[in-house]
Amino acid sequence: MIKFSVRCVEKEPIFLEGTEPESFWALPEKDEFAPASPVSYAFRISAAAGSFLVTGSVRGTVSTRCGRCLAPLKLEIRNDHVELCYAKSDIVTEEVDISGDVRDELLIELPMNPLCSEECKGLCPVCGTDLNKKRCRCKRPENPVWSALDDIELGGEK
Ligand SMILES: [Zn+2]
Ligand SMILES: [Zn+2]
Repeated sequence: MIKFSVRCVEKEPIFLEGTEPESFWALPEKDEFAPASPVSYAFRISAAAGSFLVTGSVRGTVSTRCGRCLAPLKLEIRNDHVELCYAKSDIVTEEVDISGDVRDELLIELPMNPLCSEECKGLCPVCGTDLNKKRCRCKRPENPVWSALDDIELGGEK
């Protein structure tokens, strides 16, 4: 659990650093991503007028698969621009648990389409060959966008 003490932060800004176990990720089972490391964080927490401010970074590693060639991957996920604000009027306890918000700040960094490399050629849609490793002789379906463009004659307005 990542938390800070209201009384301490009211006195002076504090620095909070540490590591949470893999379970901190709380990723759904059978998700595209699985935790591959604990989560580490470093925050500065300070009191402003009417609120507490948390800034800093959080990071960890997940395992997943390349969206094109399906190769297993490990990705470092990090957010170095965490900014959380807690209104003092909402705080009813001496200690404020920020775990859930920190987790959200980490999970928003998960990529929509993880790739082993930007240049990954993916798998042949016909025979399934990993085109990063070898070529195949399949005739691949033509990209319909390009063939449609070929049909358009330049300056063909009537
Ligand atoms: Zn790939
Ligand atoms: Zn093929």
